[in-house]
Amino acid sequence: MNSRVHQGHFARKRFGQNFLHDDSVITNIVAAIQPKKDQALVEIGPGLAALTMPVSEYIDHLTVIEIDRDLAARLLENPFLKNKLTVIEQDAMTVNFYDLSAKMQQPLRVFGNLPYNISTPLMFHLFQYTTAISDMHFMLQKEVVNRLVAAPNSKAYGRLSVMAQYYCQIIPVLEVPPTAFKPAPKVDSAVVKLIPHKNPPYLVNDIKSLSRITTAAFNQRRKTIRNSLSQLFTVEQLSELGIDLDLRAENLTVQQYCQLANAYSNMSA
Ligand code: SAM
Repeated sequence: MNSRVHQGHFARKRFGQNFLHDDSVITNIVAAIQPKKDQALVEIGPGLAALTMPVSEYIDHLTVIEIDRDLAARLLENPFLKNKLTVIEQDAMTVNFYDLSAKMQQPLRVFGNLPYNISTPLMFHLFQYTTAISDMHFMLQKEVVNRLVAAPNSKAYGRLSVMAQYYCQIIPVLEVPPTAFKPAPKVDSAVVKLIPHKNPPYLVNDIKSLSRITTAAFNQRRKTIRNSLSQLFTVEQLSELGIDLDLRAENLTVQQYCQLANAYSNMSA
């Protein structure tokens, strides 16, 4: 059988469809999520219900967001699921998670085996709604999980690390080989748990400043901060902030990026 066909569905590459079929991996993911009755669980990309089915055994209601019309229709026809599911047939990148949380009258528990082609922008989209989210469990490329948890002075440390760690505590959960999926992706995968900070360790007045500074710094990560941030800060301003001008983007901590962001927004105010 064509390796792209799973349970009679032809996997669509453009939707990043790699379906989980390894029972022990599925059991471990559901154990990590620990779904409980009356919680507001939201799954992104339920696909053929590999996670939807076992999660729904613990709860009476589950909201799922699926872009693929055929898969959304299959879910609504599934005799075990149809009475429990609210299916949002939409691109998750356009979902307002505040509205969803308001509708459910509680913070959301979001999970999913994310389409790898959009996993990073999707996480950035979700970071906008962290006050409406209590936790997130995601299957991602292992390389992306490494970047999420990376500490300064490492190759994996980048803009994603700074922004994700600003918003969330990040806990790697489990590594998953390509053989756990159909079709098998070319890369290793991993599951990660993200818990939005209730009391953020560093406060930033204007998140756009943090975004702008990390973009400028990491877009030219081989350059020194003196050069990569020259459009945003003078050498004197950086020195006043106690930032060593010869450091590179990967040497600055999340705290230092937040400090720079606050200084920048104060200057432009
Ligand atoms: N959860 C299933 C599993 O573990 O077998 C499927 C996971 S598959 C990697 C990703 C799923 O996300 C697919 O069902 C795909 O159609 C869906 N998807 C892709 N892009 C999406 C988007 N922008 N919004 C919502 N769902 C999307």
